[in-house]
Amino acid sequence: MTKRLGILGGGQLARMLVQAAIPLGIETVVLANRNDEPAALVSKAVVGEWSDRALLDQFAQAVDVVVLENEFIGSEKLAYLASKGVQLVPDQATLGLIEDKAQQKLTLAAAGLPVPALALIESLDDVAAFGAEHGFPLMLKTRRNGYDGRGTAKIRSAEEIASACSSLGFPENPVFVEAWVPFEAELATLIIRSVSGEQCVYPVIETYQPSGVCRVVRAPAPFSAAIQQQASEVAQATAAALGGLGILAVEMFLTSKGQILVNELAPRPHNTGHYSIEGCYCSQFENTIRAALGWPLGDPQLRHQSAVMVNVLAPTTRPLESSLIQTALKPQVHVHWYDKRSAKPGRKIGHITAVGAEPSEVEARAQAAVDQLERVLAEPV
Ligand code: ATP
Ligand code: MG
Repeated sequence: MTKRLGILGGGQLARMLVQAAIPLGIETVVLANRNDEPAALVSKAVVGEWSDRALLDQFAQAVDVVVLENEFIGSEKLAYLASKGVQLVPDQATLGLIEDKAQQKLTLAAAGLPVPALALIESLDDVAAFGAEHGFPLMLKTRRNGYDGRGTAKIRSAEEIASACSSLGFPENPVFVEAWVPFEAELATLIIRSVSGEQCVYPVIETYQPSGVCRVVRAPAPFSAAIQQQASEVAQATAAALGGLGILAVEMFLTSKGQILVNELAPRPHNTGHYSIEGCYCSQFENTIRAALGWPLGDPQLRHQSAVMVNVLAPTTRPLESSLIQTALKPQVHVHWYDKRSAKPGRKIGHITAVGAEPSEVEARAQAAVDQLERVLAEPV
């Protein structure tokens, strides 16, 4: 019997997983908070408060194997679902290593993988001591629930320590501090490990993240084969050190000295992998599903010389509807509209991918469509 696929989350990543499940003939059930979330609009859904055990029971009964769309669900909820007989890919042990970003990096450091210098923070004095040792600026981060740069604060000097800590909700909200990395570029890749033992590795891409939000993804990363190889090996060693199954996104820094440092991991499809829908033979979403079911994996390689994805960010708070995208529907771009009913400024509401032969032309094509769409979105309602 074909297993029913459960997806923990109702956002755009879940929506694109649902989209990938359809041609494979797989039934999906998403666990969402609201009926109008992007994935709940297009799939069977169990909707409500995730802290509600009765709701988790209902979800557990409706699915056989479960994948994640975010790492903030809490590994104890995964343990609860496992106790109800649901298969989790990744499992609660893997999520437990990743959900706390400080723990995540300490695990990697202990395995000998390259990460920026970091320290757990109990008091403002701990930050000052780290600054005295490593110099300013520093990067302060929340241990949990950070995304799109929310949960990070740059500390330029000792005078900014107190304000940065309070801006992240410390001491109620646990934080850690990291040495500033004057990186040359940000790279990322995806490793997918099937429950069957098969593994595939996606190309190394470059991601451009002004103010901590991913804006552009360039595939392949415009760096030498040696740098791509080095980044891919670090990512594969990272996946091996964690030992879990399913998809692992690995975000990395490339330093000016040509060193690769791991920045962040995510045990779920990742924004930096959306290009794979049109750019690769088999997308991150489809391979995530195949891996969870133990079905043969698809080829992760690029099927075009270049693929570029540009995120669409909401310029203002306004009602959203898909007729707005018409202006971006140029002949050779792929528009993905997440169908969020509203969004705060700066939030991701869609993305546009272009593929082709010449990277700068491909990027200009995707960027022009996004610029056009964001202009329309910024017009007064
Ligand atoms: P995501 O949306 O990918 O989950 P996030 O908000 O969880 O991101 P990080 O990926 O840790 O947070 O940081 C966001 C961005 O901030 C990075 O992509 C990078 O541009 C910058 N950044 C993070 N850590 C450092 C550092 N140590 N030195 C310099 N820049 C950093
Ligand atoms: Mg990140």
